[in-house]
Amino acid sequence: MTVTAARPPKAALQLELPPLPYPEDALAPVISAETLRFHHGKHHKKYVDTANQLLAQEPVQAATLEDLVRGSTGKLFNNAAQVWNHDFYWKSLSPQPTKPEGALLKKIDEAFGGYEALTKQLATAASGQFGSGWAWLIHRAGKLEVVPTANAETPMAKGIACLLTLDVWEHAYYIDYRNDRDSYLKKVIAERLNWKFAAENLSKAK
Ligand code: MN
Repeated sequence: MTVTAARPPKAALQLELPPLPYPEDALAPVISAETLRFHHGKHHKKYVDTANQLLAQEPVQAATLEDLVRGSTGKLFNNAAQVWNHDFYWKSLSPQPTKPEGALLKKIDEAFGGYEALTKQLATAASGQFGSGWAWLIHRAGKLEVVPTANAETPMAKGIACLLTLDVWEHAYYIDYRNDRDSYLKKVIAERLNWKFAAENLSKAK
């Protein structure tokens, strides 16, 4: 006798708000606990909740958040991409100052002519992003590059390996720096970038 078991229906993808990888006050005074409370607890959470509402209305074929971002458009893309971007941003930050070394530093020297030059390019790209968006350190075609993106756009959606990101939406800095995006960037780039995370991402990049 042949028994054909019906395959159980695949559970619809539901996104979760991962906890911050450090306590809320760990990035102070560069990024305050109040900023993280709002940025993670309200803004990031809202993207998760909105994406889940949209997924409940119209289920899509996606096994992972990355698949969802790569395969969606419009409002669902905007919210799903912002979920991924924020998760990546939290990991891009470090309570303790770190510096690039080893293979990562070699790649930085090749592409930018040194760490100082890279930090200037990162600050310029992030500062110059008109309106809301992000600045990214990416690995493309064997080389490191700095690129800005607007709104929820993310190099990951195009299959590009991301090493680090900086959030330049106003909600990332307004509580601590008001409208002074450049002061936020200066402090974060000098004292809070997680170069260990960047090195891990480089080691996984093809
Ligand atoms: Mn944000």
